Amino acid sequence: MTDTLVPVDLPDTRLRIGGRSVDARSGEAYTSVNPATEEPVADIAAGSAADVDAAVAVAREAFEGGSWSRVAGAERGRILSRAADLLEEHAASIAALETVEMGKLYRDTVAGDIPAAAASFRHFAGWADKISGQAMALGDVGDQHRFGFTLRQPLGVVGAITPWNNPAVVAAWKVAPALAAGCTVVVKPAEDAALSTLRLADLLAEAGVPDGVFNVVPGLGDSAGAALAAHPGLDKITFTGSPRVGRTIASLAGEKFRKVTLELGGKAPQLVFPDADLDAALPWIAMGNFYHQGQVCAAGTRVLVHESIVDRVVDGLVDIAQSAVIGDPFDDATTQGTIVNGRQLDRILGYVDKGRGEGAELVTGGQRVGERGYFVQPTVFRGNNDLTIARDEIFGPVATVIPFRTTEEAVRLANATRYGLNAMIYSRDLATVHSVIPQLRVGTVWVNGWGVPDPALPWGGREASGIGRELGVSGLEAFTEEKTVHLGY
Ligand code: NAD
Repeated sequence: MTDTLVPVDLPDTRLRIGGRSVDARSGEAYTSVNPATEEPVADIAAGSAADVDAAVAVAREAFEGGSWSRVAGAERGRILSRAADLLEEHAASIAALETVEMGKLYRDTVAGDIPAAAASFRHFAGWADKISGQAMALGDVGDQHRFGFTLRQPLGVVGAITPWNNPAVVAAWKVAPALAAGCTVVVKPAEDAALSTLRLADLLAEAGVPDGVFNVVPGLGDSAGAALAAHPGLDKITFTGSPRVGRTIASLAGEKFRKVTLELGGKAPQLVFPDADLDAALPWIAMGNFYHQGQVCAAGTRVLVHESIVDRVVDGLVDIAQSAVIGDPFDDATTQGTIVNGRQLDRILGYVDKGRGEGAELVTGGQRVGERGYFVQPTVFRGNNDLTIARDEIFGPVATVIPFRTTEEAVRLANATRYGLNAMIYSRDLATVHSVIPQLRVGTVWVNGWGVPDPALPWGGREASGIGRELGVSGLEAFTEEKTVHLGY
């Protein structure tokens, strides 16, 4: 195993099915790699269709058996609260698993991601005994009095496919509300970062989640992932990842009339108005581009700036980009870790070339750093909204600053994208803020800041950014079926 500044305590790298760790039926494994050193981290069981079949069958049996779906909500909540405690207790070791596999700064993972995953479990633990429907008296029909009510029942067996960039957080966004609602789950984590989800399975078992309720089938996207997406035994599939795979998952769900939630990519605008407090805004705008090396669906990579302040914004971003300390993500002094893998690094560098080729001005960055590990400089372009770098989700630390003249033009540019996940507004003028918010075709707006979604509020996008909402009450209800009852008496 690769050497790191923080000890990495590997979980069992086999599948978790029915409360047991089992080998893949094919006996196959794949090797996950530390992107900072390019050395192997672990051999992880590579599940395939037969394993997915077994996991879905066990999840179905657990659901129908009622060991979870029919226990009191308060008891499910108690167990999910305990899971939140365990995630907090083990934050350091889980964070190490994520950093060693995908290169996010260890200190951000310890202080940000794992507590955020725990917060999801804590939030939905509180909902488990408060899932209710509506009740209302209806008009009489002849001599018969009528009363109506709705039940919210757990949907059943849920398939969840997660990405590598925030594996524990995104798993928690799906698993915590699904379990709170009484569903059972099979997760296929991303091949680049599966270890924290395997550890999550062990912690959920320790918290008291019954066998078979939470199952994990690690493996490659086009085998384990494709098998889960196509499995006829699921009541719902929830996916976070690229629009390319999301489209396939939605088509399969459509064929089977299956419920589906898609959280896909983004190309978010950051609208910077002339009255913005730039000293306060610049660190946010930079963070929206460079945090986690830009490998964030909510990254604000189109920086739309009023023409009167473009130079100040570019200079500010360049200062922040050039002061980055790029290196070992376990080192406290580092401010920029690695790109997840070599393929993704090449893709980012390809976009930098494309930006220059199409005439954008490369103001800073754009180069790989070192020859070992997948490091890249934070990069700032000046350009326009029609460039490929302003249209495609790059998933790297590449900002494009785009000038606008009027608020109408800013809104038009913000909406000129196939994505619609989120947008940021920087302004001290309430009238500007309030008039722009409803015009933005996105699921979330941050005003004077940027950050992590809160489990209490819905998160999701439109168009190529996805379908449906996770988190909040909407995210909980997405794991229930609403049944209407008409009572005559
Ligand atoms: P990806 O689509 O390549 O992979 C996501 C998951 O899908 C992985 O587990 C992968 O193994 C699996 N997969 C791949 N091919 C599959 C197939 N044919 N059938 C079923 N599953 C398959 O995406 P990624 O590179 O892991 O993640 C990056 C993408 O995720 C970006 O577009 C990013 O914006 C998006 N993302 C969105 C959110 C959000 O909340 N909206 C959060 C994080 C990441």
